[in-house]
Amino acid sequence: MSLGFQEFTLAEEVLVETFTEQCEAWLAEHGTRSVASSIDDDVWGVGDFSVSVFHDMAFEEEEAHLSALRQWNRQKAEEGYHAIVWSEDYGGLGLSQAHARAFGRVERRYQVPDSHELFSVTIGLMAPTIQTFGTPEQKDRWIADLLATNIYCCQLFSEPGAGSDLASLGCRAVRDGDEWIVTGQKVWSSGAQFADYGLLISRSDVDTPKHKGMTAFMVPFDTPGVEVRPIKQMSGGTSFNEVFFSEARLGDEMRVGDVGEGWKVALTTLGFERDHSATGGGSGRRPGGSWQQLRSTAEALEVTGEPVVRDAMMRLYLHLQSEGHLNRRAADLARGGTPGPEGSLGKLKWTEGMRKMSDTVSAILGPRLIADTGEWGTYAWGEHVLGAPGYRIAGGSDEVQRNIIGERVLGLPGEPRVDKDVPWRDIPK
Ligand SMILES: Cc1cc2nc3c(=O)[nH]c(=O)nc-3n(C[C@H](O)[C@H](O)[C@H](O)COP(=O)(O)OP(=O)(O)OC[C@H]3O[C@@H](n4cnc5c(N)ncnc54)[C@H](O)[C@@H]3O)c2cc1C
Repeated sequence: MSLGFQEFTLAEEVLVETFTEQCEAWLAEHGTRSVASSIDDDVWGVGDFSVSVFHDMAFEEEEAHLSALRQWNRQKAEEGYHAIVWSEDYGGLGLSQAHARAFGRVERRYQVPDSHELFSVTIGLMAPTIQTFGTPEQKDRWIADLLATNIYCCQLFSEPGAGSDLASLGCRAVRDGDEWIVTGQKVWSSGAQFADYGLLISRSDVDTPKHKGMTAFMVPFDTPGVEVRPIKQMSGGTSFNEVFFSEARLGDEMRVGDVGEGWKVALTTLGFERDHSATGGGSGRRPGGSWQQLRSTAEALEVTGEPVVRDAMMRLYLHLQSEGHLNRRAADLARGGTPGPEGSLGKLKWTEGMRKMSDTVSAILGPRLIADTGEWGTYAWGEHVLGAPGYRIAGGSDEVQRNIIGERVLGLPGEPRVDKDVPWRDIPK
């Protein structure tokens, strides 16, 4: 039996090797090779040095960035390289995660636009959610366009009074014949100001317990009664938005999943989010600094001989190695299926790794982290250190991931939930 497995693995490796050669040829023809990349090649002081976790751009700059990403993605879509693990029905190649990782490895050596939250949400969260819950018409209408980023779609889940306890949300959707009338507010909607659609989780029934009375919709942002208001952050950027609904009318054909199935849709999208943030979705570089960048920084500053730094670096390296193996194993086992609560393990490992990297680079840089000395590749690390905590909250906080692992993976007793069987309308707000 084990021989059969080994033969299968070897055959797959040969195919991945051939595929890698094809990717190299295509990228050589269509892309521009980086002079040197501080991410993969150990070259200090050459090229760009970016370790940012979130974008901190003016509106026009961010719009131009998303447009460049869309252009590159559409170019890849001509050959199916934008959706390697997706079926040919949606413009993909129907290949394995190993093939997607192989393309990512080659692509990283080329000058391509950095990813963006809205880009990865559209491809990594929304396309698979529609694939899981959409009707055949909805799949035909949206999936290929989401994957090719002909449309951008954001996530409309959180509300001012509903974050970790998402099931308590109150944005109302009331049925009116073949339409639904939506009234309420969403918040922290990343990228909504550039999105064409948002996936909305709404309260459609106030008389059932909170987890049961929700329904999901795809909301076109040009619908009358939908207003997006960017939130200005103290950093100067506007990654987040508030989205207001004032009796916005949606046709029933925009409903995703059955009436009352919104919680299932939300959990599925969040499962993809946790899995996606942990694995990088098989495409492009993950946000924040890489091991190679950290090591190059330590070597350039000649601190690799210092015992405290060496110790922190080894601990970080071990963490990143085990995280990588865990995520690859999870991705290969899932083989494109819907991720389960185990995805929380990968997300926790990832955020913990980002924190360890912040601690290690702080030990390496010392005061250079907070005072710009002009030295290449030093002060820029502040963008990693200040951005990393955001991902300990986004997609469900670390504490919430631990609850999920405790309850749904380990089967430990659940938290006390006094409002579990109470109709939503009777829960004190
Ligand atoms: C970078 C970023 C991007 C985001 N993008 C989006 C987006 O595109 N769309 C969207 O809908 N939302 C988005 N969010 C919102 C995000 O989903 C919420 O911030 C998150 O779910 C936490 O909710 P909250 O902010 O209301 O915090 P709260 O739920 O109020 O939590 C406050 C604190 O209490 C802790 N806590 C809460 N409940 C428990 C519990 N049961 N056990 C233990 N500890 C608990 C939390 O861990 C946290 O530390 C984004 C957030 C961030 C940071």
